[in-house]
Amino acid sequence: MAKYTPMMEQYLQIKAEHKDAFLFFRLGDFYEMFFDDAIKAARELEITLTKRDAGQKEPIPMCGVPYHSAENYIKNLIEKGYKVAICEQVEDPKTAKGVVKREVVQLITPGTVMETNMLNERENNYIASLSHFQDGSFVIVYNDLSTGENQIALLNHGWDAVIHELYNQPIKEIVVSSNLPEDWQCDLAGKLNVTVSFQDEITFNGEYRNLCDELNDERLMKAFSRLLNYIQHTQKRSLDHLQPAKVIALQDYLSLDMYSKRNLELTETILKKGKHGSLLWVLDQTVTAMGSRLLKKWLERPLINRQLIEERLSIVDGFYQGFMERDGLRETLKSVYDLERLAGRIAFGNVNARDLIQLKQSLVKIPELKAVLQQFPEPRIKDLSDAVYFPEQIVTILENSLVDDPPVSIKEGAIIKDGYNETLDKYRDASRNGKQWIAELEQKEKQETTIKSLKIGYNRVFGYYIEVTKANLHLLPEGRYERKQTLTNAERFVTPELKEKEQLILEAEEKSVELEYHLFLEIRDQLKEQISVLQELADIVSRIDVLQAFATVSEANNYQRPRFVDKRLSIKNGRHPVIEQVMKDGSFVPNDVVLDQETEVLLITGPNMSGKSTYMRQLALTVIMGQIGCFVPCDEADLIIFDQIFTRIGAADDLVSGQSTFMVEMLEANHAITNATERSLILLDEIGRGTSTYDGMALAQAIVEYIHNNIHAKTLFSTHYHELTALEASLDKLQNIHVRAEEYEGNVVFLHQIKAGAADKSYGIHVAKLANLPDQLIARASSILREFENYDQPGPIQDQADTKQLSLFKEEERPQKSVKHPKKSEVKVLQELAKLDLFDMTPLDAMNALYRLQKLTK
Ligand code: ADP
Ligand code: MG
Repeated sequence: MAKYTPMMEQYLQIKAEHKDAFLFFRLGDFYEMFFDDAIKAARELEITLTKRDAGQKEPIPMCGVPYHSAENYIKNLIEKGYKVAICEQVEDPKTAKGVVKREVVQLITPGTVMETNMLNERENNYIASLSHFQDGSFVIVYNDLSTGENQIALLNHGWDAVIHELYNQPIKEIVVSSNLPEDWQCDLAGKLNVTVSFQDEITFNGEYRNLCDELNDERLMKAFSRLLNYIQHTQKRSLDHLQPAKVIALQDYLSLDMYSKRNLELTETILKKGKHGSLLWVLDQTVTAMGSRLLKKWLERPLINRQLIEERLSIVDGFYQGFMERDGLRETLKSVYDLERLAGRIAFGNVNARDLIQLKQSLVKIPELKAVLQQFPEPRIKDLSDAVYFPEQIVTILENSLVDDPPVSIKEGAIIKDGYNETLDKYRDASRNGKQWIAELEQKEKQETTIKSLKIGYNRVFGYYIEVTKANLHLLPEGRYERKQTLTNAERFVTPELKEKEQLILEAEEKSVELEYHLFLEIRDQLKEQISVLQELADIVSRIDVLQAFATVSEANNYQRPRFVDKRLSIKNGRHPVIEQVMKDGSFVPNDVVLDQETEVLLITGPNMSGKSTYMRQLALTVIMGQIGCFVPCDEADLIIFDQIFTRIGAADDLVSGQSTFMVEMLEANHAITNATERSLILLDEIGRGTSTYDGMALAQAIVEYIHNNIHAKTLFSTHYHELTALEASLDKLQNIHVRAEEYEGNVVFLHQIKAGAADKSYGIHVAKLANLPDQLIARASSILREFENYDQPGPIQDQADTKQLSLFKEEERPQKSVKHPKKSEVKVLQELAKLDLFDMTPLDAMNALYRLQKLTK
């Protein structure tokens, strides 16, 4: 086999250690990629694939990106879920013997990006780790490298619970052990769509001691170490900006399973996957990016502790009442930049002087913020004001040291104020004086030579020079001037004294730029010691921002403060917070809901499109809004604090995992039934729809009965099986309600009003008519329906063992493609067929039987 060049050997060696990343191999002004990396990168980045002759018969594929514009290419790859290893030359090529030494200096992965333009400012960028233990428990660690936060959760309820927890979190990458079972790895990559990375080293590194105060469990320590080791390994720098790990006790929050998070469209919509149309979209009246991120976190974890909920509500109430002051508060918050990420950048070491000016501008607003908060009469808001700490020290440091408009680069000077550092002032004096001296020299030379057009200039190659046009050359005295450069119309000269001054000026400038850089690093290190102060400040400012957002949206949309009452839930004129916004014209029809100890299950019937699903979702959203501490969309609300919400809503197929609607339906129902308690809320929307009528109705009834008799969770159950409405007679805590619709001149009119009792009819054909199906087809459907209606109609099955005796009943609601309506004769044939005892028949008997059956079909 042909040998590669030594440089290519070096490449291959480094690449072997970074198999799962694109290796950006620095060659002069380019990052080059080779072999498969090159082929793949050329495709992903749409750049030209070339070839390089590396001592082999076959040239090898190669492509590259310029070093100075690499960031966008890296961003592109990271967003697609890839990793990029940055390999730099780590010795000076001029002095290197043989191949220049190169090393990977940073591994950029989707979960560890720090570059501002790769981050969405209104969303956290989590890298998580997942560890599983012998005792069946799991530990999840969340880290946001850009803010330094660390959260740890211990889970004891099996793999599904892990997926439910991880679902919807803004996780870009998850670090696991390489012996995590393969199907679990597939779940992570497939269901959560995150990059899976591996780290097996989980021994605890003593350096992290200060981050672990709260971790009194060895499993938590190990899991945390897995993540820290991975970050250290990829970032290759100290992790001292990380905040101590906070343990999240999951049992302290309202638990929403994966299905509910998705179905209720809390932070993104099912179809478009965007924020628009989600509950977050309606509620996000935050002013700062930090606030927006916190709001999203609150939506993912509503509270269940009444005192904590009331505390938030009281503050929201205070902000709500003082709307004038709230305007002032919002104005002030607008000038507070992203303190949390600024703090992260300071500690991480990639902050520049402009960032620090933003920091200063934000901090000088803090006294104003405290003052604005003092204006609200609500004592809890005054408490908030007291808790906001103004870090005067930091402001003083920044005020004294940095100029107001520094450049982006921290290596080119023009950052530090005059008077901050004596040595710097001296250098600057020297350079300024030198320049002054040169200006004076120019005047002097002009006078002495009497050449008016004589001028002194500067360029990088020759330094300072005296320029004289050719026409005036004869005026120059002999001897003193040394010729340096000849132009078309002029000659350039230097003198010994000019050279001497130039030396001083350049030296001073070089030294001052270098000194400025060091002073900047010094300032940064000083600030680093104050990181926790900044993080705490960021924390409280985000809280204030979210709570004022709740007040703002509550006022704008006319929400009311909920009361939390044990055992009885009663909402007057409740509305769906998102749909009422989308409709905008105020035409949303409000509805009441009551659930208490007498009424645990509401069975909802009504035509398609009448508003059953809307009614159910609006209850869940109202409950969640209340439990995050926001006012709720209604005229009056007494709420119960729920521990969990389970939903089976909507017919969106789970395309990603390739499961059919019906399978998803059953999974969701099972999840609800196995986990719900009497303090839970269950919403089951038209369950049993995805299978044949018999199956579906039987399952639906069995599920309602099971919940009613065994779980006692508050339940909303909508159904298109009218037969189920008769359950009201046998299940004493079940009550029928329906959505009203009226027939008007042969057309259905939806009133969207919830009424007591069962719906009178289903209007399926009316809806089909609304959908503009051909008249001929509608007429035919109506006549078939009449035929069906002439058959005996069964009631619901009172004895669950009795399902076999079900006879045909009308198929109601919208025409279903999957359900074929058997004719009466066909049913008869099937019944006869089922009765035959084949083992007890002779071939002749069989012939006879077949003959009989065939006759039946005619
Ligand atoms: P169903 O589940 O009964 O088929 P949906 O809840 O999906 O009906 O509602 C269908 C449409 O009716 C919604 O998209 C909405 O536009 C409208 N709608 C539902 N409830 C209301 C309401 N209370 N007020 C006004 N319009 C409503
Ligand atoms: Mg529906």
